[in-house]
Amino acid sequence: MVRFIAVAALLGALAACNSDNADPPQLTQAALSTQSTDNRVAKNLFGAVPAASNQAPQAHGGYARGCQAGGVQLPETGQTWQAMRLSRNRNWGQPELIDFVKDLSRFAATQPGWEGLYVGDLSQPRGGPMLTGHRSHQIGLDADIWMLPPKRLDLTRDERENISSISMRRNNGAYTNSSWTPQHEAILKAAASDPRVARIFVFPGAKVAMCNSATGDRSWLRKIRPWYGHHYHFHVRLNCPAGDSNCQDQAPPPAGDGCADAQKWVNDILNPPPPDPNATPAPARGPITMAGLPGQCSQVLNAN
Ligand SMILES: [Zn+2]
Repeated sequence: MVRFIAVAALLGALAACNSDNADPPQLTQAALSTQSTDNRVAKNLFGAVPAASNQAPQAHGGYARGCQAGGVQLPETGQTWQAMRLSRNRNWGQPELIDFVKDLSRFAATQPGWEGLYVGDLSQPRGGPMLTGHRSHQIGLDADIWMLPPKRLDLTRDERENISSISMRRNNGAYTNSSWTPQHEAILKAAASDPRVARIFVFPGAKVAMCNSATGDRSWLRKIRPWYGHHYHFHVRLNCPAGDSNCQDQAPPPAGDGCADAQKWVNDILNPPPPDPNATPAPARGPITMAGLPGQCSQVLNAN
């Protein structure tokens, strides 16, 4: 099973965050009962809406099963950032996410060799499932940050479609490569130290590298979680904003710095364990329907 997942992740490695670590939470009966018969495929609907809903900002549901009301667009270019792949129209998030990305980009711009950040996918204008690329990023609280240090922040629209980020890994993610720098660690540490952040996903070799080089306070390492892919970008996930009662947080990461767990991931990459003969294949998952989303998502979809 682990092998199967690893192979699947490899195949999707160039697609951004194909395997984001977020199992859809169970919806409450109350949430399901309001829309229980709408079997339209949600990604087709949310993937087609060009702008945010004219509603108060709110995240509805969970990171991998939800939508966002009142999304805010990250401006395509700022003093310290550029949004990439503008054709995808995924530079939308809750106000807290937009503020966080701007703040982190200002910190990144203080690092040698970094003019700021290249920002990958946030969410669609109204969040929800996507036609391509992600399971999570559905409620305007997830952001992909490119590993490529920006040398310029005047990329044209075409350049933003065509240039690629760079990989930071070798040995299939067991180790960082020569493109990894102390500045990457500083930026990840700044992100993980931000109280708005719940988790950061990055390839296992990067987490172990940071475990080995971190000095002093190590508490920030707890939020940095090893995961498949995530060597061209890292993924930041924010906590549900205060008072957002319909937003479903994940359980917090386990206590401790998580370094032993990350080392086990690395060991399993270097010496893959034999497949479990008793493993059962994961059940096939159909696409998320409107009935499978919180009831408020129909209102988000239909709002002006
Ligand atoms: Zn992501």
